[in-house]
Amino acid sequence: MSSHALYTGPVFAMARRQFDVVADRLQMPLDERERVFIPKRAIAVACPIHRDDGSISVFQGFRVQHHLTLGPTKGGTRFSPLVDLSEVAALAIWMSWKCALAGLPYGGGKGGVAVDPLALSRRELEAVSRRYMQEMIPFVGPHTDVMAPDMGTDEQVMAWFMDTYSMYQGNTVNEIVTGKPVSIGGTVGRREATGRGVAYLAGRALDELHIRQDGATAIVQGFGNVGSVTALNLAHRGLKIVGISDHSAAYFDRKGLDVQALVEHASKHRSIEGYSREARFDPQELLLQRCDVLVPAAVEQVITENNAGKLQCRVLAEGANGPTTPAADEILAARGDEVFVIPDILCNAGGVIASYFEWVQDLQYWFWTETEIVERLQQSLEKSFRRVLQRARTDGVSNRDAALAIGIEVVQKAKRVRGLFP
Ligand code: NAD
Repeated sequence: MSSHALYTGPVFAMARRQFDVVADRLQMPLDERERVFIPKRAIAVACPIHRDDGSISVFQGFRVQHHLTLGPTKGGTRFSPLVDLSEVAALAIWMSWKCALAGLPYGGGKGGVAVDPLALSRRELEAVSRRYMQEMIPFVGPHTDVMAPDMGTDEQVMAWFMDTYSMYQGNTVNEIVTGKPVSIGGTVGRREATGRGVAYLAGRALDELHIRQDGATAIVQGFGNVGSVTALNLAHRGLKIVGISDHSAAYFDRKGLDVQALVEHASKHRSIEGYSREARFDPQELLLQRCDVLVPAAVEQVITENNAGKLQCRVLAEGANGPTTPAADEILAARGDEVFVIPDILCNAGGVIASYFEWVQDLQYWFWTETEIVERLQQSLEKSFRRVLQRARTDGVSNRDAALAIGIEVVQKAKRVRGLFP
């Protein structure tokens, strides 16, 4: 099909393959598939900034809005040197199925700038953030497309986005982004929401397998927002964190790592490099160590056909988006009940659910307590978890295919009932 020749590359191919498997099973007509799958809008912009040394650099920025059928699009903004339009499109499509599975009135969106944030000074980072948002102003809005953090962006970047958008409007529009600092209309519990949700669902999966959480072991890949909060929450639940890695180093200790000490090290040094000599480990091997819960919480395509057969975890809790390739999925499926997969669109949905709470609070100028946020988040994740397990059982499919089927059907039905304009 040449209708989406704009999008290429392995991550987009993954999103397409996953969709086709489910669309086949749902017996979705071919023309309807294109309508449900192809992103509605793709925007590419140049973001020039003054560097500290007086020179000018230009960074390429992207935003993809998958569909506006159910409400605004919603999704993170990634700052990474590897970002390209096709990756952003795949991430936007996954956001659509994720929001639909969670019952949120959103389509999927995603954005990114091809820049290494660690190579920028704080002033340069602010300049890129503001210029990117400024370039996006004609295409976004609180009822069109609402941004949030993702890899390489944080609460401060969201504050700059919100300020830039608001300055152009002439009034404060804090509902334009989520994941903002609480002091400017952010919600309590958003920063922790994704990791908290991953830990909650990992705990639920262990319950299903009759494995006690207290004393179970976990390995976490990626130690940013999602990875570090997941590790802290798993430790809080009584799990022993035996392995942790980020882009700079990996550590493994069967006796357990001190997660809090690693968090402090990472916040001081911006990575976990230099934390320990004794516990240093091969990052690729780390994923293959025996553990109860394995959490990929970094980049896409880390569980592949090369290592899926060798995983020794009981639960694969996908904190990252797209960590498992379709070829790896087939290998995991052939291993039967050995590995319980909590698919990304379910596992890391805590982030967008809390973002939805933030947006609703901003629109109403009415703020909730942390207890309310945590309870509602848990209820929402529990409901989706049960629906996915139930659907997997009735259809005799993997948890991933069940989760995708629920999400895709929601979008398909909404498009059918709205009809095709004009
Ligand atoms: P982040 O920028 O806060 O952290 C990313 C972490 O991954 C860093 O510790 C980095 O060192 C590490 N990393 C990068 N490349 C790596 C590699 N090759 N091997 C090991 N570690 C590596 O980003 P984040 O917000 O924690 O996002 C992580 C993942 O979770 C992404 O896939 C993102 O799309 C997904 N996600 C994030 C949220 C959210 O709320 N932030 C919500 C849902 C999903």
